[in-house]
This record gives sequence, structure tokens and C-alpha cells, in this order.
Amino acid sequence: MAASLVFRLHDGGPEVVREVLLERGWEEYDAGRREEEDWNLYWRGSAFRNSEYRDLLPWQRLNHHPKTAGITRKDCLARNLRRMRAAFGSSVYNFSPTAFILPNDYTRFLAEYDKLRAAGGPPAYWICKPVDLSRGRGIFVFGDVRDLVYDCPVIVQRYVSDPLLISGYKFDLRLYVCVTSFRPLTVYIHQEGLVRFATEKHDLSSLGNPYAHLTNTSINKLGASYGSGKGRVGRGCKWTMSKFRHFLRGQDVDELLLWQRISGIVTLTLLAVAPSAPPCPNCVELFGFDVLVDVRFKPWLLEVNCSPALTLDCRADVAVKKGLVGDLVDLMDYTSVDVLREGAYRRGGSRRTSLDHPSHVPALSRGPSPRRGHANETSRAERTKQRPSRQRAFVADYQRHLPPVGRAGVVNTSGSRGDRSRNVIPGPRSRTNASTANVPRPAGWKLPNIYSRSQRPERIDGTAAPSGQHVPPLRVGDFIRTFPFNAATLKASRHELDVATVVQELHRLTGRLASGRSDGTRRRTEEEARTDADGEDDFDSLLWGPKDPPLLSRCFKPSETTKLHR
Ligand code: ADP
Repeated sequence: MAASLVFRLHDGGPEVVREVLLERGWEEYDAGRREEEDWNLYWRGSAFRNSEYRDLLPWQRLNHHPKTAGITRKDCLARNLRRMRAAFGSSVYNFSPTAFILPNDYTRFLAEYDKLRAAGGPPAYWICKPVDLSRGRGIFVFGDVRDLVYDCPVIVQRYVSDPLLISGYKFDLRLYVCVTSFRPLTVYIHQEGLVRFATEKHDLSSLGNPYAHLTNTSINKLGASYGSGKGRVGRGCKWTMSKFRHFLRGQDVDELLLWQRISGIVTLTLLAVAPSAPPCPNCVELFGFDVLVDVRFKPWLLEVNCSPALTLDCRADVAVKKGLVGDLVDLMDYTSVDVLREGAYRRGGSRRTSLDHPSHVPALSRGPSPRRGHANETSRAERTKQRPSRQRAFVADYQRHLPPVGRAGVVNTSGSRGDRSRNVIPGPRSRTNASTANVPRPAGWKLPNIYSRSQRPERIDGTAAPSGQHVPPLRVGDFIRTFPFNAATLKASRHELDVATVVQELHRLTGRLASGRSDGTRRRTEEEARTDADGEDDFDSLLWGPKDPPLLSRCFKPSETTKLHR
């Protein structure tokens, strides 16, 4: 019998992750019973140390990519988006309110403030936010520069003063974005998300009222109106994204275009850090993107969170977050990882993993040719000292057992085309690399593709593009692949990420949706999607956002479709 998968939660949380994993038959890491490295997923709210990335074993996953502060810290995000705007133009990078990082940008801020005042237009408002705080802490809105007082690094950002309101209440959207890989960039957005409301009516004459201007749950759940009915918003301060979709139906809005713009914001933001992200295929990260929609239905990016709250405060949280975590685990594809883990354990001299043993039985040894009982005879401190070299030897041994390399560096462990799910790309030290020396591929390990033995439909599995490049599945549960989204962006992300091409393709796609869309937005059935995905030459994507997301190719007139696949 296969051993259970093992998870570690730092500081005991989040509870919903524990709950979902236990329900799926995982076991929680117990330091008293297990080797220090005997786990499959390590989940923590804060960043991991460099050594934790370096020492990862092939079947281990971390829930953060290294070096993502470039988008998750408010000042870094402002700086990076400013850089991208300078490089790719303000017609594309126009989704983030103008921001100044203080104290450094104080003079520039004053110049902008004075310019707007002198222009004599409608009054401009600003929001001041400490760069490294969250949950609305330390934030205030102001119109007069004399009210700007700060004692730590902050960003001062143009306040979106005309948000779309529901029954007079401001809201923002919390999107859950999973980056399964930065090299090549692979992005999924979850269909469910949260709509977070302010609990007092939006009123520009009371800028000091956080319940009217901030949509953070941590603030609004303390508000006097939290529990009372608030027109169409109802009680509490959250909706699910599904409820928001329903609300949109009654509005005069091009819904597909709105979703595509939001999805474009996610991609454009990630492009700011993707080229510099170190390759770390064993990492998966769930980001929380906060997007505000204004009265003209223009979406604005407010910020990106690296550890979005997974607490279950209300019914909307329960409806969204349990499914989200479940889909995230599916996206991590542990089924096939576990096959590798089991095999490697056996080659390491242990017939059974430590999980198969009662707690008094010797723990697992990971050396290439360990003596039986080795772990028992060696103290934990000594084992920790030996770890780096043992681990290197172990990984090297593991790589020797990789099956032969197929075309373009894709290793097919089964040899049959029907089972694409166990494809791996060998690491730089693998002997199998010799046969693929000229084939560019991401450095490090590429974990196997998903769905190997799940009950999900086989044909929406990842496929190989004509180039031999792995194509990630277009949908995993309610996670919709939003990057790469067509053949050109797949190609642009194959080697070094070609950001200019991606930006261009995205701009073109959004433009086509805005102008070229006909009533060919017929919804595809899942069966049709599978049939399409079966063709090797076919690369299509779903348009994230709407209920029953349509295939992108079905969002255009036939002539446009042809262009999309050029
Ligand atoms: P935090 O990390 O503290 O949550 P955010 O940047 O998300 O910081 O801001 C908190 C809240 O303030 C947002 O949820 C939103 O309601 C409001 N807010 C932030 N920036 C703006 C802005 N530029 N315009 C309008 N409202 C904003």
C-alpha cells in the first residue's frame, strides 16, 4: 500500500489546509516520528530560507517561490510597475494607480499634487499605506497634503475615488492566483474568489472613516453595521465571486472583456518579476490579487498578497476557500510525485517508507546505499550534519534511475503516449541530459504533470506542443490556466521569457475581445474542450472569469480564430 503523503504546517496553520489535506488522507508531520526530511508539502505563511529551497528533494514542495517580494511588497510593486510602464508603455501598464514611494519620492509627489491642483479639475484624493503592513493597518485617505503624516516608509497612491458601488457600498475583488512555475511561467486563476465590502456607504466627505473607504475584512468585521442588512449587499461584508457574476448580469457591462482585463492585469504584474525569478519547480504559490473596479468598469490593481488569508470567517469563506485549497492540492499533482517517491525509497534500501512502520521502527534512510538500521544508530544531530552530502548523493542516485529521455527533453516514464502524466524533465546533473544536451529546458527539476491517476477527465491533461514543449492543462478543478494562453505565448516562455512578445500578445487579445468579438461566444461543452485538447497541434485556452468559461478560440469570429493560432 502506498504511504500517505505528509504535510508540515508552520506555526500550526492555516486550519483549512490541514482540514483539506487530512480529508484527502494526508498525514501531518510529526517530528518525533519522522526523519527531518520525510514530508511532501511544507506550508508556511512567511518566506522560506535559501537553504530550504536548495535542499529540497524531488517530491517535496514549498508553498512559496523564492524572491517574489518584487510584487508582494507595496513599494517594490510600485517600483516594478513603474519600470514596466516605462519599458512597455502606459497604454498597457495603465492598471495601477499612480504611486510614490516616500520619503524618497516626496518631491515628485508634491510636484504631481501641485500640478493636479493647478489644473483645477475635480479634487484629487490620495491613500497612504505603510509599505510592509497588511490588513489595512496604518492606512488613511487624504485630500490635503497637510494631512499627510507618516513615520515609516509608505507609498502614497492616487485614490480611486469613483469605485463601482453596490447599494452605495464600495468593494474590491480578491482573486486567487496560483503560479505553478515561474520558469516557464505558468499561471492559473481560480474561478471562485471573494468580493470584500466596506460596511458603511462610500462618502468622500468622510475620508477618515475606514468602514466607508477600506474593504479589509479585518477592519469591517469590527464595524457597527457588519451584522445588519446593507441593501443588496446583505449582512456581513463578503460575497463569493459567483454571486458577483450574478450581479454583473444585470449591469450594462461587457462581462468577458472585464474578466479578460482582470486576467491581463495578473499576467502583466507577474511579468514584472518572472524573468528574474530563480527556477524552482518544486514550488507552487498562491497569491491574493486585490482588484478594484471603478464606475466605468475599469479594473485597478491595488496590491498582491503573498499569503492570502485562509481563515474561515463566514459562509462565503467556507464556500470559496475549501474548494480553493482542494484544487490547489490537485494542481500540485502529488499522485504522480508519490510514485517517484516510493520508487526512490525502495532504491534507497528501504522497502517501506517510515509511514508504513509503527513509530518504534527505524526511520527512513536516504543515502544511496544505506546500511539497514542506519537511521536508528545515528543521532538526529549527526544526521542533520550529514544531510547536504547525503542529499546530493541521494538526488544523484535518484537521477540515475530516470527513464530514457524522449523528444525535446521530455522523459516519458511509461513509454506510452496515452499516459502523459508522468513526464519529467531531468535536472542539470542527470546522466540522461547527455542525450538532450542541445535541448533548452528549465534548470532544475520539473515535477510530473498532473492527473496521472485522478478521476479527472483524461483529455484535458497537459499535452506536448508540436515543439515538444509541455503544455500545462487548461483547467484543474476551478483553476483556469491563464498563462500561457496561446501558441505564441507558449513559445515566448520556452527559453528566456520573451516579455515583449507576451505583452504584445496580451494587448492584442484584449483589443480583439474589445472590438472583434461577435456573438460567436457560444459556450463550449467540456466534451468539446477535450476533443480539441486531444489534437497535438491545437493549443487553446479558456477565458477565465465567466461561469462556464468559453474557449478563447470561440470568443472571436472565425477569421480571428485563425489568426490566434498562427
Ligand atoms: P492592505 O495590505 O493593508 O490590505 P491594500 O493596498 O489592500 O492594503 O489597501 C487596503 C484597502 O484600501 C483596499 O482593500 C481598498 O479597499 C483600499 N484601497 C487601497 N488602495 C486604494 C486605492 N488606490 N484606491 C481606492 N481604494 C484603495
